[in-house]
Amino acid sequence: GDVLMEVEDLRKWFPVASGGFLRRKHEHVQAVDGVSLQVRRGETLGLVGETGCGKSTLARCMIRLHDATSGRVTFEGQDITAMSRRELRPLRREIQMIFQDPYGSLNPRRRIGSIIGDPFAIHGVSSGTERKRKVQELMELVGLNPEHYNRFPAEFSGGQRQRIGVARALAMRPKLIICDEPVSALDVSIQAQIINLLADLQKEFNLTYVFIAHDLSVVRHVSDRVAVMYLGKVAEIADVDDLHERPRHPYTNALLSAVPVADPDVSDQRERIILRGDVPSPLNPPSGCRFHPRCPKAADQCVVEEPLLISRSGDAATHLAACHLPVQPGENLAEARPTLA
Ligand code: SF4
Ligand code: MG
Repeated sequence: GDVLMEVEDLRKWFPVASGGFLRRKHEHVQAVDGVSLQVRRGETLGLVGETGCGKSTLARCMIRLHDATSGRVTFEGQDITAMSRRELRPLRREIQMIFQDPYGSLNPRRRIGSIIGDPFAIHGVSSGTERKRKVQELMELVGLNPEHYNRFPAEFSGGQRQRIGVARALAMRPKLIICDEPVSALDVSIQAQIINLLADLQKEFNLTYVFIAHDLSVVRHVSDRVAVMYLGKVAEIADVDDLHERPRHPYTNALLSAVPVADPDVSDQRERIILRGDVPSPLNPPSGCRFHPRCPKAADQCVVEEPLLISRSGDAATHLAACHLPVQPGENLAEARPTLA
């Protein structure tokens, strides 16, 4: 499809002060640091990475819940990073967000009919019985009983509360919905129901999703393309099957090797790759390739030179990886050792 949203060299740095009163230092958490990617109309783009990799911050910049430090986000060709609050208002209908914790985002003292009707109130779209009718239609659409209009959030299960979140996101008939770990807090049995609901709604309303998860196995089932993030940058981005069958970035390989494969016949049966150490602080990210302190393939070049996110010969043009020494087919990273001087 054509490009619905484009992110260009986006940075979001959060200032932090440290060092006490006399030796005050002003540093920055480089939560998102130079991300470029496109979201195509009608697709689901999976966004994957460990806690703190910047995926939620990136999502919040996409909907202007955060103002970017630098770079651009355009939606249907309009630069939303440069818009005033007033200019943004019509876009607030077209881009919606679903959050991980549906309970935390619902006011426990309000009835769900009124919660789902919020967007109508905010945008002054309808009122009274007309609004109630629209809210009840939305409830039906997401598999809630419209007669439960007057109930409170606590009267619903976790899965039902996520359906309330979905209904509220749908109210303004958005084009893009950013789903920030929408099933991570739910029981596995309920996860599939919500994922199926999102898939049905996508077809029915031609929705585009950015689907954030820390788990590649969830993302595989819902995404057309996947971007893997590490320490504020995109490590690899590709069509979902390319990414699983021919991962090029050692970090992607490590993530995939941790995904249990139920079917012993499938091709991506991998030896588990154990990464050294923890994710370094985004306050002071490593030089060169940010993954180098943990990478099983790290070489001297990786310490000094930042790899570009590019496509390699033999790969699809849509398959980009930021690595000086991309993984070759059949290469066993579980046995690789860094060659640092
Ligand atoms: Fe590993 Fe070097 Fe590739 Fe970074 S650039 S992922 S350190 S091989
Ligand atoms: Mg998060």
